[in-house]
Amino acid sequence: MNFTEKIKSEILSKPLKEKHCRKAFIAGLIRGSGVLYEKDGELGLEFKAPDEQTAMALTNSFKLLFDYDIREVSVVEDRTHKKDKFLLSISGNKAVEILTELEVLTEVDGEVAVNLNFYGALTEKECCLRAFIRGLFVSSGLCTLPTENGNSSTGYHLEIYFSSYVTALETSNKLAEYNVITKIVGRRGGYIVYIKSVEEIKDFIAFLPAPVSVLALTELMINREMKNISNRQKNCDLGNVNKQIEASAKQISAIDKIESTIGIESLKKELAEVALARKENPEETLNELAERLSLGKSCLNHRLRKIVAIANEL
Ligand SMILES: [Zn+2]
Repeated sequence: MNFTEKIKSEILSKPLKEKHCRKAFIAGLIRGSGVLYEKDGELGLEFKAPDEQTAMALTNSFKLLFDYDIREVSVVEDRTHKKDKFLLSISGNKAVEILTELEVLTEVDGEVAVNLNFYGALTEKECCLRAFIRGLFVSSGLCTLPTENGNSSTGYHLEIYFSSYVTALETSNKLAEYNVITKIVGRRGGYIVYIKSVEEIKDFIAFLPAPVSVLALTELMINREMKNISNRQKNCDLGNVNKQIEASAKQISAIDKIESTIGIESLKKELAEVALARKENPEETLNELAERLSLGKSCLNHRLRKIVAIANEL
């Protein structure tokens, strides 16, 4: 299950108790995936449910809230996600009534028209606004995280797709009222309200709310941060090791030079002792060598530098 599916399944796993929230959720879902059509002079609407469980929950809601039986449910293949979606359809006078109640349709000069205002009385309560946004996210939202394909350059991304700029802007402004900051850009023939910053993605998911997903995201952020710190630490350690190997090689070549010219025995006793120990243990760190000779690290370092200096004079 990818992260989008995790958020959606968390949203869908929590049935809404209040009727007002249920209505707002369905309105959001319809707004996100609904397509109006006209057949034999009758208005109808098709909308998608992401899985069978949701399709069932929706038919139940329609029965409970509007005493309407959704009879038309068909399976459609979602090619991009390689999984089935469920297409639900409502039509006839009752459908117009329901869609008007859901503020999807409105009457303008005695004519039924699509209501372009997303945020009317139905989303006035905060609980309902959150439910509405959840519906929108379930039907047309997605969220990707950098670890999902192992490529960190893809980064964090969350979006909701809208067919019109006005509704994208309204949604973005509505979210901003709750300190959820989003941007808008044209995509795939419509507009997406999107977020790239992980902190702001977290704010959005917390707004829905989907607390389990917030926790999962927080854990991921912490793990990534820990990994960064540990990588920096490793790079640093490696730098030290390289420096020590370099220094040891320099010391060995100095000792070789002394050996082949004036001889190690011509050095002062304390220097000769260090030179022999270094030559026999070229891979040892300064600490290890100091321990071997029961010397302080700085004293050993001083003697080694003296040996290198003597060799440089030769
Ligand atoms: Zn509510």
